Amino acid sequence: MLMSNLLATTLQWLKKECVPCPLCELSPQQKQQILCKDCWQELPWFKDYVTRHELNILAACEYRYPIDQIVQQFKYHDRLHYQSLLSSLLLTLPLPRVQAIVPMPISEKRLIERGYNQSLLLAQSIAKHLNVPVWQPVERLAQHSQKGLSRLERISQIDEQFIVRQPVKERYRRVMIVDDVVTTGSSIHALTHVLQNLGCVHIYPVCIAAVFD
Ligand SMILES: [Zn+2]
Repeated sequence: MLMSNLLATTLQWLKKECVPCPLCELSPQQKQQILCKDCWQELPWFKDYVTRHELNILAACEYRYPIDQIVQQFKYHDRLHYQSLLSSLLLTLPLPRVQAIVPMPISEKRLIERGYNQSLLLAQSIAKHLNVPVWQPVERLAQHSQKGLSRLERISQIDEQFIVRQPVKERYRRVMIVDDVVTTGSSIHALTHVLQNLGCVHIYPVCIAAVFD
C-alpha cells in the first residue's frame, strides 16, 4: 500500500515536472498547473462579473482560445486531466464564503452520454478546497428541441427543466453555483429560482468562462 502510494506520488511528480506544456509543447521551467508560466499568464483572463438575467456571475476567463478548446476537451472528450487546471482557474477568483457548492446539474440523458457531469467535478475540487459540502438538491430534466421557440418560450422551457430532488435533507442559506461556461445565463437563472424556493438567500454563481458576443 505504502509502496503504491510512493509510486503514485512519484508518477504525479514526473508528470508535473517533465510533461511539456500542452499549449506550446515546450518543457517548462516553471509551471502553473499543467501549463507553462507564459501560457498561464496569456490565458484570456477576465476575473470579473458578467450580468445575465440581472444576476452577477463571476467568470475567470473569456470563452476564447485556448480556454474554449480546453473546456471542450474536458467536457466532450474525457480529458479529465484538465480538471485540476480548470479548478485552479476558479480558485484565482475572489470566491465568496458559502456553506455549500451547487454544481450546475445535467440531465440523466446527458450524464449517460458523457459519463460524468463536468460541473460536478469542478464543484468537488472547489468544495474540497473550501472545506464545504457539495449540495445537489436539484435535478435537471432532458431538454427538448428549442427550435422555433421565442426567447421567452425558451426561458420558460429552461425553467421547467429544473426540479427539486425529493426529499431535501439539508438546507443552506449561502451557496455557490459552479458552472463551466455561461452564455445567456438562462440555466443559472433557472437554478437560482429553484434554490431560492429551497430557502437559499445568498446565491453566488461562478463559472470558468463567459461567452461574449
Ligand atoms: Zn506553454
